[in-house]
Amino acid sequence: MCLEIQQVFEIQKKNAPNLARMDAEQRLELLRRIENYLQDGERLKELYKAMYNDLRKPETEVIATEVGIVQAHITHIKRNLHKWMKNKKVPTPLSLLGTRSHIRYEPKGVVLIIAPWNFPFNLSLVPLIYAIAAGNAVILKPSEMAAHTSSYISLMMYELFDESEVAVFEGNESVAQELLDLPFNHIFFTGSPRVGKIIMSRAAQHLSSVTLELGGKSPAIIDDTANVKKIAKNLVWAKFINNGQACIAPDYLIVHESAKDCFVKEFGQALNQLYDPSGTGIQNCPDYCRIINDHHYGRLRTLYNDACEKDAQVLYGGDFDDSELYMAPTLLDNVSPDMKIMKEEIFGPLLPMITYINREDVECIIENSPSPLILYIASQDQDNIDYFMDNISSGSTLTNDYMLSYSNPHLPFGGLNNSGIGKSLGFHGFVGFSNERAVMHRKWGSVGILYPPYNEKIQSILKFIYRWM
Ligand code: NAD
Repeated sequence: MCLEIQQVFEIQKKNAPNLARMDAEQRLELLRRIENYLQDGERLKELYKAMYNDLRKPETEVIATEVGIVQAHITHIKRNLHKWMKNKKVPTPLSLLGTRSHIRYEPKGVVLIIAPWNFPFNLSLVPLIYAIAAGNAVILKPSEMAAHTSSYISLMMYELFDESEVAVFEGNESVAQELLDLPFNHIFFTGSPRVGKIIMSRAAQHLSSVTLELGGKSPAIIDDTANVKKIAKNLVWAKFINNGQACIAPDYLIVHESAKDCFVKEFGQALNQLYDPSGTGIQNCPDYCRIINDHHYGRLRTLYNDACEKDAQVLYGGDFDDSELYMAPTLLDNVSPDMKIMKEEIFGPLLPMITYINREDVECIIENSPSPLILYIASQDQDNIDYFMDNISSGSTLTNDYMLSYSNPHLPFGGLNNSGIGKSLGFHGFVGFSNERAVMHRKWGSVGILYPPYNEKIQSILKFIYRWM
């Protein structure tokens, strides 16, 4: 193992009790360092540059989906941390008369955060600020695939924190593997279900607890009552922001047969309005990102080619430019479950569409995939919404809009099995990095009456107590 990793881990372990003793104001002071850093115009410009180099991400998207989200969560933590850190009193059952109980929120200790490349700043910093808010020492490994943002984060943390508080180790999976040799108190991983399984099995060696924020196929249902004109535009924005490289992007569409024609027309209009308003072509639009690298570009081309070979019909898009890793927003019709595009998470600007007639068919389509991270339902009919919610499980559900549920810090965020384990953000994010220590104080009395030697009287008392507990 790299000596530096081992040394930093030991330093953080030593410092963990000091961090644990910090009160809310002291923890917020650490978060203010991040906040102030991000208010420096020059430093922000450096971040814009890094993210342009990684993903050709427009500045507005860096603000909306990266820096702004981090800032919003810091604000949310500032408003709530005092309250979250307070001991939470719980009721006392009659059988425990003479005792008082509460939950005490303690930091887990030294935690590891492993981040992906698609929102490389947001998905490194947001878990980090919740880990700090909960009083932990943190080692962060950003994604090597967003290399410019990774170096930016590394330098930022070096300037802001002592390595006994926060340390960054950059690199690929071999660095992650070295880190996973260590007995972290908690591991927070965001990435693919494939790597999520590796993380969980490595965590098991030390019985480290885990939060796994994974991906998968999030379906978007559009029923026969949906306000197609309105949702088509929302959907185009949500699917093609970051070039579809978002875990909460709608992965595929399930559209009621009667809504299809109108939806396809509105979809085309929305594409032009959002990404080609001047008619010079989407490739020239400064607001449209690129695929992260050759590997993912090739993977997406394979999904596209396989679908076309199996008779999928291209309704919009299908244009590529290998030299700039450009892939047009692409809507595919005549899609079948045997296509690769319906079996793997897409994570790019390809959008397959399947139509249905009876709502029972929707269940059959979705049940072939593991539980989605988000289930999107566009419908004006509450009965249909209830039906889909009752019959299809998912980490979250959003009706008549896309992506936005992620932005409410009062809601837990996370998946179910293949799409994730554990929840993050807001109070749930704080709890994820905390040990909810159960504390009971005996004030008076005792359970002496239950000590052996046992007899019938004790049994009767026990039966009475447990019936009324
Ligand atoms: P990935 O799983 O390939 O990599 C994520 C991180 O794990 C990177 O830092 C990488 O270096 C590391 N890693 C890779 N192989 C490893 C190994 N064998 N052992 C240990 N660490 C390893 O994911 P990605 O390609 O960076 O991101 C895309 C995936 O992330 C998609 O599946 C997407 O849905 C998911 N995702 C989920 C969320 C969420 O919040 N649920 C958010 C963003 C992305």
